[in-house]
Amino acid sequence: MARIVMKFGGTSVADMDRIRNVARHVKREVDAGHEVAVVVSAMSGKTNELVAWTRDASPMHDAREYDAVVASGEQVTSGLLAIALQHIGINARSWQGWQIPIRTDNAHGAARILEIDGTELIRRFGEGQVAVIAGFQGLGPDNRIATLGRGGSDTSAVAIAAAVKADRCDIYTDVDGVYTTDPRIEPKARRLKKVAFEEMLEMASLGAKVLQVRSVELAMVFKVRTFVRSSFEDPDAPGMGDVLNPPGTLICDEDEIVEQEVVTGIAYAKDEAQISLRRLADRPGVSAAIFGPLAEAHINVDMIVQNISEDGSKTDMTFTVPSGDVDKALSVLNASKEKIGFDVVQNESGLVKVSVIGIGMRSHAGVAATAFRALAEKGINIKAITTSEIKISILIDGPYAELAVRTLHSVYGLDKK
Ligand code: ADP
Ligand code: ASP
Ligand code: MG
Repeated sequence: MARIVMKFGGTSVADMDRIRNVARHVKREVDAGHEVAVVVSAMSGKTNELVAWTRDASPMHDAREYDAVVASGEQVTSGLLAIALQHIGINARSWQGWQIPIRTDNAHGAARILEIDGTELIRRFGEGQVAVIAGFQGLGPDNRIATLGRGGSDTSAVAIAAAVKADRCDIYTDVDGVYTTDPRIEPKARRLKKVAFEEMLEMASLGAKVLQVRSVELAMVFKVRTFVRSSFEDPDAPGMGDVLNPPGTLICDEDEIVEQEVVTGIAYAKDEAQISLRRLADRPGVSAAIFGPLAEAHINVDMIVQNISEDGSKTDMTFTVPSGDVDKALSVLNASKEKIGFDVVQNESGLVKVSVIGIGMRSHAGVAATAFRALAEKGINIKAITTSEIKISILIDGPYAELAVRTLHSVYGLDKK
């Protein structure tokens, strides 16, 4: 017997037929004698609709009321799945975040889970009951519903798996695992059998939305054995109930991966914008004067490039922010114009960041040069570059995104044979 957390994303619970299909996946594990907790997302498209309604009600709305609205999608699917399970003879009960409770901090709209009391869930496992938990939500210190940021049901699932000391956390989605790049834009992408936590963390934070970044962090810290797999396969197909090696991709420690490639995957993030401040004085404190106020305004600055003029007296500072934050960033910068002391500010939206990821890069030289050469051959201009030990990120014009992803995918030998 194992203890398993099963998470089903939006497309997996998109309508009643899909929910009945999910119930069959759950039944398979229950019939095999396992203890099961299920975490569900809202039906696909529902959260977008709810978010749009809050904006329609008022563009500058209260984040606590945003949470009250957008958390409702998961309330519906948790109840519906509990009913569907009961209908096929399985003892099931729905749980909202506040009922467990899943305690979060007070950052409404992007809350972090602080603590989960798994006692009652575990007691009910003992009674043979399946918990069907609404993902994406918890209870803030103000005693109000708090949501975990878009894609947050993955994080709910991994956090619950850690809290109840589950043997496994299965993230069921509309693809059958983690691929070398988004299979929707590169059909030659290959499914990976295993991905190291560090690589998955980079892939998720650089745009691969198959897992929310925070869920990977939690899996890494609490050593949760996490699999990404498909809910679209026949629930009763051979091997689907394999306890040790279920079909899909395992996110695991680096040591578990025997044959490590130099490059594991390519990720991309759309809607990046670049802001340049021209002719700044080159003196101590300039960066602090720019990035301090941006941080206070909760604007996420990513790539930063600084150029010094020939005589060393002036500098240009270029950095990227999400496209949606450009107007806010410009007004913050203009408000501090005197203190920073710049001549002009320029900005460009609609850019894309393409990233090459692999822990094998630590011990291989020339990986970046290969990318630059390949992009040059396709006539793709590079606007900014950042690197770390295990990734290279390249900023390019939006329309070249797919070409760049395919080019890099192929140059590192990732294409399906
Ligand atoms: P869910 O609703 O189940 O949470 P998401 O839409 O959040 O599903 O995540 C699954 C999607 O992630 C896939 O449909 C796929 O297009 C996308 N994706 C992006 N990068 C990758 C990747 N490297 N491997 C697999 N899927 C990826
Ligand atoms: N329903 C939420 C969203 O769309 C959470 C999730 O699906 O993980 O962001
Ligand atoms: Mg998701």
